[in-house]
Amino acid sequence: MECKRCGTCCRKGGPAFHRGDKDLIDKGAIQARYLYTIRKNEPAFDNIQGIVRPVSSDIIKIKSRKGSRTCVFFDDHHKSCRIYENRPIECRSLKCWDTAEIEQIYEKDRLTRTDFISGVKGLWELVEVHDARCEYGQIERLVNELKKKGRDQTAARVVEIIEYDTQLRELVIKRGVLDRAMLDFIFGRPLTTTINMYGLKIKQEAGKVIIIKSV
Ligand code: SF4
Repeated sequence: MECKRCGTCCRKGGPAFHRGDKDLIDKGAIQARYLYTIRKNEPAFDNIQGIVRPVSSDIIKIKSRKGSRTCVFFDDHHKSCRIYENRPIECRSLKCWDTAEIEQIYEKDRLTRTDFISGVKGLWELVEVHDARCEYGQIERLVNELKKKGRDQTAARVVEIIEYDTQLRELVIKRGVLDRAMLDFIFGRPLTTTINMYGLKIKQEAGKVIIIKSV
């Protein structure tokens, strides 16, 4: 069998990056502005197991189009990949009629932010502080506690973490440290978005985060 270029796999989310893909990013064939990070312990869909589970370390992926799972590099009109010659290993390995090859590599040798920015003084320290203050394991524990006991103190702690994440992003843009398009790669996706995965609904008013529902 061969690929019929139906585009189904490209509409199910962009690929994760592995060690053998590093040159693609280093040499700019795929720019970091098109990437995002799933941070350690963040719940994510495991394409092989078909379940959502917390990831054991950073995963770097190609972004999807806004409001969709389709990879940003997929060309609907031509049903083709805009970076075909430079597509990552997962795209080269995926054959929808036989997933054996991608299953072999799926969890191996994944690239993380450490591979790209751990040497960038100042920025890396900021990433480490952000990771510690906005750690997903801690967020999950707090949300579970909030759902069970409904304590104001716990709600305040969750709000504090989300507001810290939001304010840090705005601060680095305001100070010209980062372009907005780089935020999801450097700090992962905003908590104002990912908090939904824990069944928590929030709204933002005048820069403040308000929890409106926990299910
Ligand atoms: S990089 Fe190309 S082949 Fe891979 S998912 Fe995106 S559009 Fe498809």
